[in-house]
Amino acid sequence: MAIARASETVEERCRRQAANAQRTATARASENTEERCRRQAADAQRISNSSNICYESDPLIAIGRMTLECNFCQVLRWKGESPGMCCSNGKIRLHSLQAPPEHLYTLLTADYSDAVHFQDNVRKYNACFQMTSFGSTKEIREAGFMPTFKVQGQVYHRIGSLQPLRNEEPKFLQIYFVGDKDKQIEQRCRNISNTRPSIVSQIQDMLHQHNSYVKSFKYAMEKMSPELKVVIYADKTPSGQHERRYNAPETSEVAIILAGDKQGSGDISLELRSNRMKKIAETHRAYDALQYPLLFWQGEDGYNFELRQTNPTGEITTKKISAMDFYA
Ligand SMILES: [Zn+2]
Repeated sequence: MAIARASETVEERCRRQAANAQRTATARASENTEERCRRQAADAQRISNSSNICYESDPLIAIGRMTLECNFCQVLRWKGESPGMCCSNGKIRLHSLQAPPEHLYTLLTADYSDAVHFQDNVRKYNACFQMTSFGSTKEIREAGFMPTFKVQGQVYHRIGSLQPLRNEEPKFLQIYFVGDKDKQIEQRCRNISNTRPSIVSQIQDMLHQHNSYVKSFKYAMEKMSPELKVVIYADKTPSGQHERRYNAPETSEVAIILAGDKQGSGDISLELRSNRMKKIAETHRAYDALQYPLLFWQGEDGYNFELRQTNPTGEITTKKISAMDFYA
């Protein structure tokens, strides 16, 4: 059995484990109180006997290191992962992320106190600046104290209005338009605990300077009124304009329109003040940039790549593809 399991693919292992879990759940559901007590006592006995088992050499647990390298994109993988999973054997080529500006680069790489704290808490710092929030069609709350977060069904990102309702604290995107710089830092540190104002200040300056969404929204805010809304087009620039760029979006991809005007089904529209949260399609160009501003600090499209194809004469052609084309 150990040999059979060691040669299993990831997919096979997941299938087997899911079947096992289902079987166990069915058996336990039909157990009476006496049977349950007997089983728990036997489990406890087994655990106390097994304290000297060497898990590290167990073929089910020891999956080795990431030593296999893809010949096409040089990504490293484990032996259980199939060869084409990274780049479809060279067919897909992702653009590299651009090196961040000096302050963020230093925080990511240096070893002084603030930088180490930043690296240990990088998700918290991203949360200070994310413009969208996380949601799912069904969340499962464990009874009692269980530090487990489970979701079922679909996971998505949501976005609210540009300003909070009166008497509500600004959250996510709304913080970018609060009073002055210091008020924004204070609000971010209040929303996310154990963050250092000096670090938040540096990142905030960087995003106000470089992030095209922040810049576009701030520009739009100066002109906003309740009869208008701001739209981030899903993928394409309006017809007749320049061809779509694949790096930082142009300001024309964020536009102000009349609240009653029609928009594309995948476009994101933001009202000045509202309590409506809107779902963002995962194929929207801004999906990643709005949620992970520390990765996409310029507001770059999160999901676009080049498809490399070899035609019958042996010539290699590359074609730029966005998330929309990919899912279409
Ligand atoms: Zn690859």
